[in-house]
Amino acid sequence: MSEQSTPAQVAAVVQGREVADYPVLAPEAARGRVRAITARGEEVLHRRGVDVPDEMLGGAELARLIDDMFRTMYAAEGVGLAGSQVGVGWRLFVYDCPDDDGVRHVGHVVNPVLEARDPDDAVVVENEGCLSVPGPHAELGRAEHATVRGVDRDGGPVVVSGSGYFARCLQHETDHTLGKLYVDRLSARERKRVLKKMNEMSEGVFERRRVRAKELEEELPG
Ligand code: ZN
Repeated sequence: MSEQSTPAQVAAVVQGREVADYPVLAPEAARGRVRAITARGEEVLHRRGVDVPDEMLGGAELARLIDDMFRTMYAAEGVGLAGSQVGVGWRLFVYDCPDDDGVRHVGHVVNPVLEARDPDDAVVVENEGCLSVPGPHAELGRAEHATVRGVDRDGGPVVVSGSGYFARCLQHETDHTLGKLYVDRLSARERKRVLKKMNEMSEGVFERRRVRAKELEEELPG
């Protein structure tokens, strides 16, 4: 008698596709270097990004940027990071984010377009934070489901869908590429509270990022 075989485990959904096995840190991070993360008030965060032009797709500059963004995101212990958050005006983001079912989603989207929200979809109010608003979190309503379409670094089509926390991430990161921060979606009173807290907490967050960046140098080859 043999044990009933268990179905193959999905380790992650990478670029919108299920894979059976995936490293703890995306391979891009080993090739990348940590860049400085921009903070609220810096102009690049508050203007709409520019679409990555076709001639950059498949090129070394874009690949390097994505590598750096992964490493920067991990050093800051984030689940998503947009180009404007490393001071780049191109519209793209990277992510490594669980959904509410515990499924890990990893990838990057260049020139993302968020599908129009289904009016029947639920609005979920949960805590949200941002690496460019270091420290605090605030409750914010987001659609429970989200789909983003775009291309990958080589220009191939990408469709990424998710629910719950990952759907929140997709909405948050696409907002970044359009020059919008989550605090822009809060009431004036709540925004004031969050920004006051940011001023109190940011130094501690920056110190933690420096420590984590050092640890990554030990953990990642290269
Ligand atoms: Zn953010």
